[in-house]
Amino acid sequence: MPTKKGVYAKSVYKEPGPIRTDEDPFHSMMERFNIAADILELESGFYDYLCKPTHIHITSNPVVMDDGNVKVFEGFRVIHNDVLGPSKGGIRYAPDVNLSEVKALAAWMTWKCAVVNVPFGGAKGGVTCNPRKMSPGELERLTRRYTSGLMEVFGPEKDIPAPDMNTNEQIMAWILDTYAMHARHTNTAIVTGKPIALGGSRGRVEATGRGVMTTTLAAMERIGMKPFTSTVAVQGFGNVGSIAAKLLREQGCKVVAVSDVSGGYYNADGLDIIKMIEYSRANGFSLDGYRDADLISNDELLTLDVDVLVPAAKEDQITVKNAHDIKAKIIAEGANGPTSPEADDILNEKGTLVVPDILANAGGVTVSYFEWVQDRHGYFWTLDRVNRRLDFMMREAFDTVYDTAEKHDVSLRIGAYVLAVDKVASALRLRGIYA
Ligand code: GLU
Repeated sequence: MPTKKGVYAKSVYKEPGPIRTDEDPFHSMMERFNIAADILELESGFYDYLCKPTHIHITSNPVVMDDGNVKVFEGFRVIHNDVLGPSKGGIRYAPDVNLSEVKALAAWMTWKCAVVNVPFGGAKGGVTCNPRKMSPGELERLTRRYTSGLMEVFGPEKDIPAPDMNTNEQIMAWILDTYAMHARHTNTAIVTGKPIALGGSRGRVEATGRGVMTTTLAAMERIGMKPFTSTVAVQGFGNVGSIAAKLLREQGCKVVAVSDVSGGYYNADGLDIIKMIEYSRANGFSLDGYRDADLISNDELLTLDVDVLVPAAKEDQITVKNAHDIKAKIIAEGANGPTSPEADDILNEKGTLVVPDILANAGGVTVSYFEWVQDRHGYFWTLDRVNRRLDFMMREAFDTVYDTAEKHDVSLRIGAYVLAVDKVASALRLRGIYA
């Protein structure tokens, strides 16, 4: 039975998880989920079902390091939900990966897939390690051990991994090979974001950045902004940030600032993004030492007087500490969870149009879906076909989120959550609860 509006969702959520601060990603996810659940008057049992992961796997991964010593790395795979289809989501390698973060990221995958109408559930994996301090051989052994520990979890019809922070095509290739060795046959649909030579899709590498570009342009159209007269700042110069910057530049925007772990780079006349991508690649994926720009801090980048801000680095970058100082009219979230719920309130008050992560960065999983479809057909699409279909799905998702937000008089973020939670809850109602 539906519960009274505005009451149940808030009172039922008592599970704080291992860490709970204002900047805990799972808490951030739950804050938005609660608002959507209230608006939808979600049944209490469904509320409990949808906010909890269906499975949590924690693995211990011993690796023989190059110096001969054994080091053990903790690995996670969280399946948040598989109501709409097999669970889907990337694997990240980083020193601060923890269960609460992976749980949040898995839930975001569920909502993201629902927003863009991709028939997948949500999952996420992670290994607590510092890939920058590991050799290719150590990374390969870690990846293979992690994959073999999850043989019963992964599967083309069950749970399909992909790249995320600090993981790439090569790591996906090792996952494919390890899975194939254990399964005694090769099924390329086991993982997405792999090299084209192993059944990867054209356009997958650029897909997340391309989706950020498409949704940014859609947002600009809604508020009468033109790319040719717009300035952009991009936080993060990894796969998502660098491609988003390059494509927005191609659309006519002036990208005046970008940043990576080495700091921020600013040029009021516009940065040469192609040159910066080449520089970063040749410099161990770092902009450190890049000369044709003024150096600024990451905080300065976020509060620059620009039209569009693309946070494409990591979680909790826009918080109560800096939200008041943000001047951009549009924020397009290339990263997952870059804005805290408290910062959302400040930005809404100021009238900033935030294109939320579960919409703005969904281009990656959308082309992962195309990759999985192509692998299962054994028939591969042209780049043009991939990009056209991606553009269509991102535009359609943007319009549906926009309409949902207008209907409920809420932000695009809450509109996206309402759309996603409603879609998954409706599917669950149809399936029923197996007794
Ligand atoms: N890691 C990406 C994301 O957060 C892509 C996931 C996928 O392609 O499955 O959306």
